[in-house]
Amino acid sequence: MTADTVLHRVRVVVEAPQHSGLWGALDYASEVALLPGELVRVPLGRRVVTGVVWDEAPEGEVSAFAQADLKEVAEVLSGLAPLPKAWRQLVAFAAAYYQRSLGEMALMVLPPELRQLDALQWQRRRKRLDKALLEPLPPASLPPLPELTEQQAQALAALAQPGEQPCLLWGSTGSGKTEVYLRQTQRALDDGKQVLIMVPEINLTPQLEARVAERFAGRRIVSLHSALTPAQRLRNWLMAHLGQADVVLGTRLSVFTPLPRLGLIVVDEEHDPSYKQQDGARYSARDLAVYRARLEKVPVILGSATPSLESWFNALPTSEGGAGRYLRLAMPARVGDGVMPRVRVLDLSKVLKPTMGQEPPPVAQELLHAIEERTARGEQSLVLLNRRGYAPVLHCSDCGWKSGCPHCSAWRVFHKQDRTLRCHHCGFTERVPRACPDCGNTDIQPVGRGTERLEEQLAAAMPNARIGRIDADVTRLKGALEEQLASVHAGEIDVLVGTQMVAKGHDFRRITLVAAVNPDAALFASDFRAAERQFSLLLQAAGRAGRDAEAAGRSEMWVQTWHPMHPLYQSLRAYDYPTFAARQLEERQMAGLPPYASLAMLRAEGKTQEAAQAFLRDAADAAKPSADAVGCVTLYPAVPTPVQRVANIERAQMMIESPHRAALQRFLTDSQPLWLDVAQKNRRNGLVRWAVDVDPLSI
Ligand code: ADP
Ligand code: ZN
Ligand code: ZN
Repeated sequence: MTADTVLHRVRVVVEAPQHSGLWGALDYASEVALLPGELVRVPLGRRVVTGVVWDEAPEGEVSAFAQADLKEVAEVLSGLAPLPKAWRQLVAFAAAYYQRSLGEMALMVLPPELRQLDALQWQRRRKRLDKALLEPLPPASLPPLPELTEQQAQALAALAQPGEQPCLLWGSTGSGKTEVYLRQTQRALDDGKQVLIMVPEINLTPQLEARVAERFAGRRIVSLHSALTPAQRLRNWLMAHLGQADVVLGTRLSVFTPLPRLGLIVVDEEHDPSYKQQDGARYSARDLAVYRARLEKVPVILGSATPSLESWFNALPTSEGGAGRYLRLAMPARVGDGVMPRVRVLDLSKVLKPTMGQEPPPVAQELLHAIEERTARGEQSLVLLNRRGYAPVLHCSDCGWKSGCPHCSAWRVFHKQDRTLRCHHCGFTERVPRACPDCGNTDIQPVGRGTERLEEQLAAAMPNARIGRIDADVTRLKGALEEQLASVHAGEIDVLVGTQMVAKGHDFRRITLVAAVNPDAALFASDFRAAERQFSLLLQAAGRAGRDAEAAGRSEMWVQTWHPMHPLYQSLRAYDYPTFAARQLEERQMAGLPPYASLAMLRAEGKTQEAAQAFLRDAADAAKPSADAVGCVTLYPAVPTPVQRVANIERAQMMIESPHRAALQRFLTDSQPLWLDVAQKNRRNGLVRWAVDVDPLSI
């Protein structure tokens, strides 16, 4: 470089830890002009890292003399189309809204492999990828399309009207929502557009993948989710970014896929909690999808049988007390002769006699008979229990010892299969002791019931039935889930025991009975969303039964409960989501909770509970002036989290509430820099980590 070389000043975002206080882009010098959205390698401290050229510096060109202090861009990942402006806008919005640094957000949503390659490695990868990208598609034979139901036709007619509003497709399970997505996708493809279809958990929906692939044979379909290898993920992402993929099917991370020809976004099962990232940048992919659709002026369809109360409220007309922001399309009927199973609420207080010192049987006699009837007819039953393991705790009746986790404020779960005590919070695992560790008593007993024990007890009660189980323990091995599902579909299992994992999405043809054996806990949970989640889970579970028209008439959903009159079960019985939602909304309004208010949670982890809480108190003090300045922001007292200690780290949280989203945003943005300082000071006193969670799922 000679003294009069003209350098370009560029602003680059790099992945910097949130707590470094580096929020925006850094200035670098470059000998070549760079476009916003290009990927570069730049020096950062002693490392060279990948960054995204964000925008042109307002100063434009600078002389080398004037900017001797600017570091230079090390290399450019050339041959990659710059990330489009819409992508940068989405990332910038997400970073600001969820209170993360721009660099963290931008780099987090790129394929991991892309972040690690230097320019030379990138060129080599690119050569190999180019070959894969040019692979011809197999010849297409298109399946015949089913004739639309009247409701589907109506929904599609409404969707054909170009409008700015997001659509909430509210349709029962089996009403044919997916068919509506596919038809709308076809329209977009015919217009030369790309379509993004989001699902909550792609591992659980291989059927959807197959259906999309079958319907659009001859088109390029790619999936994007965390179970792909880094190489697959990079390839699929590139195909999307280069405009070669027509349909992208992905989990929450796919909302950030750059799509130059985007024409439609679908968010299936929009109420599902999996759309919210639960660590790091805690974004909601559902909400970002709505934002992105508006930004890129494309339609978005949110689909669900039990919409989140936020979406429901947004789709409720103002005349009914809602926000009237979304277009609501209803498809209450199941396709064909399908009807939802009859709901039977079984009052446990009537059928179970209290037996001294003995645990009640897992299912009441009546339910057992109903299951046996199914088995005898060659039909299948699904028994749901949302707790894995054999028993949630072991107990010594002599001295009162319980299998607590030494590192957490939680019990360790007894897993009988491998005879371990396992903490589901920190993972601490030990072999089950032969005798009570405190008093030596050899008679230590499991208390309560998980899926392993339920499976064992059902097998004992029904020796002729073939019992299977699906939960996170069974499916830990790759391919195990598919194998187990295949045996259900093949009719090799009569009774399937499972957690919520099996309640979602699967198209079981022969299931005519679904039973929730212990759903009451959610009725009394402190989390304000527990009821909403439980209702949706039970309704989805019910949707697993009676999918086969021939058996639909005799399908049943059983609920074992000590509280049969609870409004949640009453609404379930009538499949009356609107009444359930109206009641919930009323409660939320009175309590000042979402969707009537916006929440953020300031979370802290410390070596002691006092350290965690002290940070929160100091943070509240520091932010008081900005709360006063913004107005209508309420800071609640710091409290321990529901599970207070995990892996020897104490956790506390402080809720922040405002009736106005914008006010809360302004407050958080003002407070972040103050909290960075507060955290710096509190680190000496045992603060370990802290973070803001905007729109938290649970409180
Ligand atoms: P949802 O997504 O609402 O649960 P699906 O779209 O999966 O419903 O439809 C349920 C079942 O009905 C599927 O097997 C699907 O192939 C079938 N189906 C959907 N629409 C029609 C239709 N118009 N005619 C016949 N079968 C249909
Ligand atoms: Zn003991
Ligand atoms: Zn633990």
